[in-house]
Amino acid sequence: MTRRDPDFIFDNTYAHQLEGFYVAWKGEEAPAPEIVLFNDDLASDLGLDSAALNTDHGAAIFSGSVAPEGADPLAQAYAGHQFGGFSEQLGDGRALLLGEVLDKSGVRYDLQLKGSGRTPFSRGGDGKAALGPVLREYLMGEAMHALDVPTTRALAAVTTGEDIVRESVKQGAVLARVASSHLRVGTFQFFAARKEWDKVRQLADYAIERHYPELTGDDQKYLAFLVAVSNRQAALVAGWLQVGFVHGVMNTDNVAISGETIDYGPCAFVDAYDPKAVFSSIDRRGRYALGNQPVIAQWNLTRLAETLLPLIDPDDSEYAIRLATDVINGFMDRYTDIWTAGMRTKIGLASHEDSDAALIDDLFSEMEGQSVDHTLFFRHLAQAALGQDEQVLALFDDSGKITSWLALWRERLLRDPQNPDERAKAMNLVNPVYIPRNHRVEEALQAAEAGDMAPYRKLLEVLSDPFTKRDGLEGFEGPAPCDFGPYKTFCGT
Ligand code: AMP
Ligand code: MG
Repeated sequence: MTRRDPDFIFDNTYAHQLEGFYVAWKGEEAPAPEIVLFNDDLASDLGLDSAALNTDHGAAIFSGSVAPEGADPLAQAYAGHQFGGFSEQLGDGRALLLGEVLDKSGVRYDLQLKGSGRTPFSRGGDGKAALGPVLREYLMGEAMHALDVPTTRALAAVTTGEDIVRESVKQGAVLARVASSHLRVGTFQFFAARKEWDKVRQLADYAIERHYPELTGDDQKYLAFLVAVSNRQAALVAGWLQVGFVHGVMNTDNVAISGETIDYGPCAFVDAYDPKAVFSSIDRRGRYALGNQPVIAQWNLTRLAETLLPLIDPDDSEYAIRLATDVINGFMDRYTDIWTAGMRTKIGLASHEDSDAALIDDLFSEMEGQSVDHTLFFRHLAQAALGQDEQVLALFDDSGKITSWLALWRERLLRDPQNPDERAKAMNLVNPVYIPRNHRVEEALQAAEAGDMAPYRKLLEVLSDPFTKRDGLEGFEGPAPCDFGPYKTFCGT
């Protein structure tokens, strides 16, 4: 039998430029690797040959059993604040960076396996992942990508043929994922905690070259780097809140320097708008609640800033602190600007007025405590822009307040250049019909774990085009039925 060689072309800068930042490693051999999902579209963007990779040979590669030619598999070192407490050593305990590939436009991506076995960073863990969480991350990442929020993406999901022990016995699986990089706030913390400032500088230079090359010649490039990372985090978290996404574990090891959503664990989208929404079973105090995410992003950026102080000014630490503090203090204003700009579009405004922020704040105060479905509200608002208010009003227990808000909104629309048709059209381009509804995700994962991938594939297809309402998909539009109960997700990684 002839085997077509997969055409990965690796160009591994992390392995070659950052010796001492990782341990060269290899995956464990899986007993019977099998591809469950393969992302043809992403493969094609990356210039990979699906016909060669969506095969037994691809399964062996994506399970970690066989390293493709040109890969430099390694486990990355990182530290991190988890729920506020610092762990000096985390690192890739069950992940393996295979290497970097360039997409068709020359953009560099990491190709990483998650669940490929123990590494020197595994501590007490088994280095494995279960099928449920692997499929969950695949689905959430693809949904997020389609919602236009920066994210890592899934290239393939593979079952390993091995049983693994969690709260019960589960099927072992590996996720092959693609990210702009896996540099985290926690990567900087790892070396800063050891006072290895040369390494922090080397890492910062690498991160700047890879993600913020425009800063290379800046006189204060490390401060500019902090500003740039802050801006991307502000945009990311604004994007999350605009679709009602709760990441669930915004530990500093789960904050990507690139500004992408990374490490989908116990995450979920809200049905009803509720800033206090928490889904993770371990987040008992609501540290990572929906509405707390901007404050936590700022807290995480403060941890990054601390690692950069000796680079910002090696001789005058007070001066460095002053400069960095200004950046951190500016985060909320930056966040609010990005949030307000996004919200303007969601409520159908094409022009700017200073009072828009207050109009938007009022809206969220009206929604809070009324169990209003976040996604349906904005989608139905496009109907209200065409003069049909019924669907919006029906979402409120007490429609009195929203009626006054709609009146204020209409006054504002009179001073906006778009006509109603243009406005409704523009709103429908940014307000999704379909999001990963928790009851749909659970249903799909349960079926998949029992061997029926059909509901999962259907959901994945629905979510790949979230802004286009399609006939026959009404069942994917609404919130969970009442008997679905309070939703909890588990770190059951
Ligand atoms: P995560 O919850 O995926 O963000 O992981 C947090 C840390 O725990 C990282 O250092 C992971 O590598 C490690 N980890 C999570 N699950 C496992 C596992 N099953 N085996 C080894 N390490 C793990
Ligand atoms: Mg993580």
